[in-house]
Amino acid sequence: MPKKTLKAARVRRLRRGQKVQAATSTNGSGSGGLDVLAWENDPYAQSRPTRPPALAAPVVRPIPDLNAKALPVMIAGSTPKPRRYNAGTTEFRYWTAADALRRTADFWAPLLPSGTNWHSTVGTRLRVSLDVGEDLNAYYDRRGLDFFHGSAGRMIVYSGESPDVVCHEFGHAVLDALRPQLWNAATAEAAAFHESFGDMSALLAALQLQSVRERVLLDTQDRLYHNSQLSRLAEQLGWAIRQSYPDAVESDCLRNAVNSFFYKDPTGLPPEAPASLLSSEPHSFSRVFTGAFFEGLAGIFDTFGAATEKNLQQASVDAAKLLIKAIQTAPVVPSYYSQIAAAMMRSAPVTHHQALAGAFMRHGILSPESAHTAGVAGPESPRTVAGMVNLAQAAEDLPTAPIACSEYGLGIDSIMMHVASQPKRFNVAGAAPEAGSLTPPAHDEAAKSFLEDLLRLGRIDLKAAIGNRAGFLLQHPLRRKTHMLVKMSGGLALKRIHFDCGFACASRHG
Ligand SMILES: [Zn+2]
Repeated sequence: MPKKTLKAARVRRLRRGQKVQAATSTNGSGSGGLDVLAWENDPYAQSRPTRPPALAAPVVRPIPDLNAKALPVMIAGSTPKPRRYNAGTTEFRYWTAADALRRTADFWAPLLPSGTNWHSTVGTRLRVSLDVGEDLNAYYDRRGLDFFHGSAGRMIVYSGESPDVVCHEFGHAVLDALRPQLWNAATAEAAAFHESFGDMSALLAALQLQSVRERVLLDTQDRLYHNSQLSRLAEQLGWAIRQSYPDAVESDCLRNAVNSFFYKDPTGLPPEAPASLLSSEPHSFSRVFTGAFFEGLAGIFDTFGAATEKNLQQASVDAAKLLIKAIQTAPVVPSYYSQIAAAMMRSAPVTHHQALAGAFMRHGILSPESAHTAGVAGPESPRTVAGMVNLAQAAEDLPTAPIACSEYGLGIDSIMMHVASQPKRFNVAGAAPEAGSLTPPAHDEAAKSFLEDLLRLGRIDLKAAIGNRAGFLLQHPLRRKTHMLVKMSGGLALKRIHFDCGFACASRHG
């Protein structure tokens, strides 16, 4: 079919779909219980953002099976009867979250190594609480996913109502099941990669909806790596945060996967910054990897020739497979992004090399020489690859090393931290600002910088381990804590409490 005719057909189909959506969304709970209504990727997902934003049209979805065996989930509380509920009701929020959870689980499960289970403290089913209190927040804490509600602009916003946010949190749990060593890793890049994986989960889960694929191709004229309702993540939560902290999030969403952030060594970045700048804060720094991944996915899609929604779905699966394989074999080092990028290139077919190399170079994750190295290096022996898999699975945590901290007045000389000291798999690095490759910091330098960032932001619960006797000036009384000090035989060790996705904003004063 000629391109113009193909596009006209797409427009007609989408318009027809929207009419159906509009009709069903106003009918209330009158369906026979064979399906439910849900948001596609966010309540404020719009082809062209308006001010103030308008609600998207819900879509009809099959009843999600939360008892499915793959990556099982349990939503706390009673289960409303499956029907087409009106947006704004508790029941609608339940089924929107359930649909998003099941869609992400169904996407990731076949791509994970066989036998991948939730982290042992989660149990057999991931517990999900859709509204545990007031905050503009959401988190994963190795027990389950918690979502909140918060007021903004005279409205109540529920973080668990946005599929983007739900799939992001689900991504934390999936990555923790796949590579638990990242949980306590004392390096900014590991924490930022966790956040990026959450956003990549949201993008990939949205791409499993045919309606999203068709609309994004239409809105971007087949150029996937263009600003769109797909690339704009968590528009509603972003809007809510923007009402109180206008510079904390992007102008039309929380974070945008289409961005021009260029890699810098995070140890040289400030611990937080306005959304327009890059900082070492994990959500901020995650945008570098997310942008490169999305651009790489768009490049893979371009190699398929025909810009069909089916090819787009295939590209999303291909890119996700490469990502999962890389996570299984990339060592946790301070320059973790470059190891993941090189591992993706290593296992990609040659037809995808140019797309991936271009994306990782344009975002500075690989220097030109590193992209060349990753692209042309000879095959690795199966023993080397098996060794990396063993290293990833050998222990739940990275080894500890004492990091000096006597200068902070905490009354202790050092803190045991899980340092990113695994041997490098690839001789690659990010781009240096002038030319060539950066020299990454040593694992103890990266750990010290990570510790001081947490102290600067008031993220460590110091009270539990050392009380008020010392370091009280560093115990920010209002910040939500992401880490704590735990007594171990070698002294006090830094451990993560949860991945707090309040986006360093709501938790400033809560
Ligand atoms: Zn997160």
